[in-house]
Amino acid sequence: MAKEKNSIPSTGRERAQKIVSFCKRKGFVYPSSEIYGGLSGFYDFGPYGVELLRRMKDLWWKNMVWERENIFGLDGAILMHPRAWEASGHVAGFTDPLVDCRDCKSRVRPDKLPGWRLQKDNQSGEWKILTVGETTCPLCGGELIPEVRQFNILMETYLGVIEGEKQKAYLKGESCQNIYLDYKNVCESHNPTLPFGIAQIGKAFRNEITLGKFLFKTREFEQWDVEYFVRPTAADAAYQEWKEIRWQWYINKLGLARQNLRWRQHSEEERIFYATDAWDIEYHFPWGWDEIEGLHHRGDYDLKQHGQFSQTDLRLYDPQTKSKVLPYIIEASGGVGRAFYALLLEHYREEEVEGRTRIYLSLPPYLAPLQVAVFPLVRTDRALVDRARQIYEELKKQFNAVYDEDGSIGRRYRRQDEVGTPFAVTVDQQTLEDGTVTLRHRDSMEQERLKVASLLSFLVEALRLP
Ligand code: ATP
Repeated sequence: MAKEKNSIPSTGRERAQKIVSFCKRKGFVYPSSEIYGGLSGFYDFGPYGVELLRRMKDLWWKNMVWERENIFGLDGAILMHPRAWEASGHVAGFTDPLVDCRDCKSRVRPDKLPGWRLQKDNQSGEWKILTVGETTCPLCGGELIPEVRQFNILMETYLGVIEGEKQKAYLKGESCQNIYLDYKNVCESHNPTLPFGIAQIGKAFRNEITLGKFLFKTREFEQWDVEYFVRPTAADAAYQEWKEIRWQWYINKLGLARQNLRWRQHSEEERIFYATDAWDIEYHFPWGWDEIEGLHHRGDYDLKQHGQFSQTDLRLYDPQTKSKVLPYIIEASGGVGRAFYALLLEHYREEEVEGRTRIYLSLPPYLAPLQVAVFPLVRTDRALVDRARQIYEELKKQFNAVYDEDGSIGRRYRRQDEVGTPFAVTVDQQTLEDGTVTLRHRDSMEQERLKVASLLSFLVEALRLP
């Protein structure tokens, strides 16, 4: 009988380190450019990581786009016209506050330290200190100088070939901006009526100051966004509706535990000036509660700004009122990397089995990187190997399957447990006699015998995205 150890070490730092080294060791996430000493704030997803990431995004897309009649998908370019970032307010105001450490000279974000209250002037992007909080440097224990400076986190690049005539452009500071720019195109090509949404999963880039929380804060990351366009009178109700949709999604579809999630409303000081209301869904990370998704009631700010700067009429004819209306926007904007990290923290388990530690990932089966493993009981029996390979060849046409004949059967099970493979199929002598295989379940380690003929339908059902 398996005895659950307190799966992950209890202190936050240890727990985080365990996941980071697990990710590297098993091929989920590598520090980017490692052979050159790494590049701070950038990560690569390895062979298992990329599978998990894809499955998460497929799930989001299915639930947010396919299953909703009025949501349109988009995949926009990373570079946009530089004026777009002036219109959005990012060129002037996409600033983070920072204070310097007198001792180690590091730059630290005071708004993330206890006790500080700061306010941003959204036109100029300048930060003002309202209350000075903790002044101990979190990096070296030295003293922080309580003078705030601002730092624009948009990343710049240059277009064109002639030196001196190059045009400055910005890498997307937030992925959703394409949606506002293509809103008119979607209206013209698809003729939607309000309310409707545009959804996108896309990259964003920020020159973040404080790194060091693995995938939580990176300089290149992915966001999943829904921008929902509504009549102004319907905005409050739509906001509540989307808060509920996204909250339920993290629990019921992505598989995060209810007790590790909470809502946090933005205070007046931190809320961006045009937003009517803003709430974050927070996850209980090893260092405490922190944001995984923001739900924003944005009013008509985005369309108004882009309409003015591009001199384009972005109003939409509303047959209900028989007039043109500039829709309000409700935004659900989450970080894919943060959700990925939360999922691993949530599902990494260690337990004691027969005196040994078993590591397994209890991921929902439909998210698992490898979906099914196929083993011959022993590799010295040609007939078992042939039959197992036949089954594997069939399964890999539909699933991400793996064949393994290396080492004892117990070790092969453990290897799959560790990367979260939900099902393992073992071919033994009895398979050759009656056409059944052993199907082993990852979490319970229970085994059952199943006809090869019914294996496919079992897996289709068990691995289907909900
Ligand atoms: P924070 O204050 O935590 O840095 P934010 O409020 O600036 O986040 P938004 O601009 O609302 O974040 O972006 C929406 C989502 O994008 C966030 O909820 C988060 O999941 C993700 N995100 C933002 N910045 C980063 C980053 N540097 N690295 C990874 N994910 C990020």
